[in-house]
Amino acid sequence: MEVKILSEKFDIENAHLLEVAKEHGAYSTLDKVFSMTPTDVIEEVKKSGLRGRGGAGFPAGVKWSFLPKGLDKPTYLAVNSDESEPATFKDRYVLVKDPHMLIEGIIICCWAIDCHDVYIYIRGEYTSQVKALQAAIDEAYKAGYLGDKAAGQDFRIDVTVHRGAGAYVCGEETALLESIEGKKGQPRSKPPFPAVEGLYGCPTIINNVQTIASLPFIMKNGADAYTAHGTEKSPGTHLFGISGHVEKPGMYELPLGLPLMEVIEQVAGGVWKGRGLKGVIPGGSSTPVLTPEEAKTVTLDYESMAAHGTMFGSGGIVVLDETVDAVKLVDNLIDFYHHESCGQCTPCREGLGWMKKITKKLLAGKGTLEDIDLLRELCDNIEMKTVCVLSAACTMPVRSYLDKFRHEFEAYAIDNVSADVALERN
Ligand code: SF4
Repeated sequence: MEVKILSEKFDIENAHLLEVAKEHGAYSTLDKVFSMTPTDVIEEVKKSGLRGRGGAGFPAGVKWSFLPKGLDKPTYLAVNSDESEPATFKDRYVLVKDPHMLIEGIIICCWAIDCHDVYIYIRGEYTSQVKALQAAIDEAYKAGYLGDKAAGQDFRIDVTVHRGAGAYVCGEETALLESIEGKKGQPRSKPPFPAVEGLYGCPTIINNVQTIASLPFIMKNGADAYTAHGTEKSPGTHLFGISGHVEKPGMYELPLGLPLMEVIEQVAGGVWKGRGLKGVIPGGSSTPVLTPEEAKTVTLDYESMAAHGTMFGSGGIVVLDETVDAVKLVDNLIDFYHHESCGQCTPCREGLGWMKKITKKLLAGKGTLEDIDLLRELCDNIEMKTVCVLSAACTMPVRSYLDKFRHEFEAYAIDNVSADVALERN
């Protein structure tokens, strides 16, 4: 099932070094790219159907074509390497194992969108990834792939690695821009969208690491070679991080469109210890959970996930076995998102705090059935009433657990326990 496009060099010793990467084809597509017009490069990427791999899945080539033309302002590229979504660990493989693939992708993107200044935004805690990335950038400068005459062309490209301070919300594109500008990392109201008014008020393209790293393959082999994998609407491959209760957790590159359960069983070795399956988080903690029944029919692509009431997300698949306590899981989720709220919107700042009090109350054996209804109502009232989607990243999955595993929440409600137990709890 596995396909080696992005991960082609992951198993090659020292492929992070320029010399080794070049032996295996790194930077070999640049002559072709620079012989094409930027418009033709954009068209090829559009034809490949490459979708943003950060979670939203917006087509990359289409995003690039939103850039306004003829402005007397620079265009920036910000590569989003914040990778903070719980259960997501794909981009860091690219940064450590094949950083030159990312740099080559950056050069291709810069040519396509006429960009000379690139910022790679990375979580500050990712020390080893920052070191590997910076070392590769230094090598690329020394070898002339970056700098005043990038790849020997009359075209300047400078790349700066910007380390964040570890805020989840800085993975949101406008918070990321604020952080690069040296301000508090909190999301901006949109519009204007970054393609029109982004970094320092200039047009800015923000793409995820995996999205940019996919460009060398597409430009070298052509869009058709990319669309030969995956489905018509979700072409190509994806780096899936599979974790939780499976026998073989890890990062696997797979074509999109595979049946989820086949992947869990045949790639990840099945649910560990022979236990039963309780549910699957399909694409990072913010995606609504799938029941075992839903997991049997869903495939790993954007359309099938949406048809099953969830999202493809970041490709971070978490398998939950039958021993997982849905209430404790939800409590943990709310704790995380409440902690990461930037605080500028009342529904997010106060609402998530309120939700947290309810799960704590339930877990303490003092919650009621009415509290469960209130928790559900809060999800509906908070969602989409805020500046960014962080609040929805909490309420969407919480609602899914409430709807699919309500009996577990009710089992904690004081109305459901005997008078003796209730007395004891009080
Ligand atoms: Fe900040 Fe939350 Fe509002 Fe997003 S939704 S801007 S994280 S307060």
